[in-house]
Amino acid sequence: MKQYDCTIIGGGPAGLNAALVLGRARRNILLVDEGKPRNRVTHHSHGYLTRDGISPQEFRSIAQKEVLQYPTVQHLPDQVISSQATEDGFRLETAKGGSIFTKKIILSTGLTGNLPSIQNIEHFYGKSLFVCPFCDGWELSDRPLVILAKGQHAFHLAKMVYNWSRDLVICSNGDPELSEAQLSILSNRNIPVYGQPIKELRGLDGELSSVEFTDGQLLKRTGGFVDISWTHASTLHLSLGCETDDTGAVRTDASGQTTVPGIFAAGDTALFSPSQLIIAAGEGSKAAMGVVKDLVDEEF
Ligand SMILES: Cc1cc2nc3c(=O)[nH]c(=O)nc-3n(C[C@H](O)[C@H](O)[C@H](O)COP(=O)(O)OP(=O)(O)OC[C@H]3O[C@@H](n4cnc5c(N)ncnc54)[C@H](O)[C@@H]3O)c2cc1C
Repeated sequence: MKQYDCTIIGGGPAGLNAALVLGRARRNILLVDEGKPRNRVTHHSHGYLTRDGISPQEFRSIAQKEVLQYPTVQHLPDQVISSQATEDGFRLETAKGGSIFTKKIILSTGLTGNLPSIQNIEHFYGKSLFVCPFCDGWELSDRPLVILAKGQHAFHLAKMVYNWSRDLVICSNGDPELSEAQLSILSNRNIPVYGQPIKELRGLDGELSSVEFTDGQLLKRTGGFVDISWTHASTLHLSLGCETDDTGAVRTDASGQTTVPGIFAAGDTALFSPSQLIIAAGEGSKAAMGVVKDLVDEEF
């Protein structure tokens, strides 16, 4: 039975860059990916040097082509559904019924976002309503924007987005949960706070045009940012016994190794925020180098 040097679970920028480094290190590796990256809702990705503005699909297809040039790299479009330690590594089971034996694992399964419950929000998410001003702030520069958030997150997001547009409103869809001091700072910057319940978001083809409240009031807004909660896209780290930190990210050391020897983590799995393609790719590269160093130490 074949045993891979390393199996990478998750083929976003973290997993793909890990595969590139491991392939170039002549290691037999398997990249298992179910193909649901969290930025798939958006048309353009920004801030990755030489690839600014590229579509997520094109980014992936270029990366997969580069990675699969190396003969020891294999790609499996599948989902890993369970994992367990064996005497000399790990055994993974996939949704399509496969079994994989591997010496090392890189977990790069990423995150899933949970949007707040607002009518129609999914139509605008990733098109004119975003999560990260560093990724999409430039495109929304100087536009009338809405911040869909409450509490400390709303205050922080408004403060950040103010760097890109001064025409901001906060819609908290209920109690804003802001302190008097925060409300006063926001008021001094002409950022109104609307606590009324939102009826729905309006617009066409993903382009937001207004926020409608249940009291009938209509607020013209052509884009914005939303605070969403994040969960791991997979629970494999839990079944493998990897510890997480206070933010929920899988804890890793300087080489990308988790608290379980032989298991590494990279990308959003190991860093909840701030999160970007280039950071994920860099972390994937680091974890791959950690894997190679471990294998070389064991074999030399
Ligand atoms: C709307 C939006 C816009 C964004 N825009 C930008 C931008 O402009 N610029 C930027 O730098 N960043 C942007 N980001 C952030 C960026 O998408 C992430 O930081 C990046 O994708 C993280 O890469 P990753 O490899 O860690 O995870 P992902 O890209 O999420 O990849 C994880 C992969 O693992 C797979 N997977 C999960 N579980 C399993 C399993 N059990 N078995 C097999 N495969 C599995 C998933 O299907 C997925 O393909 C944006 C994010 C969002 C949500």
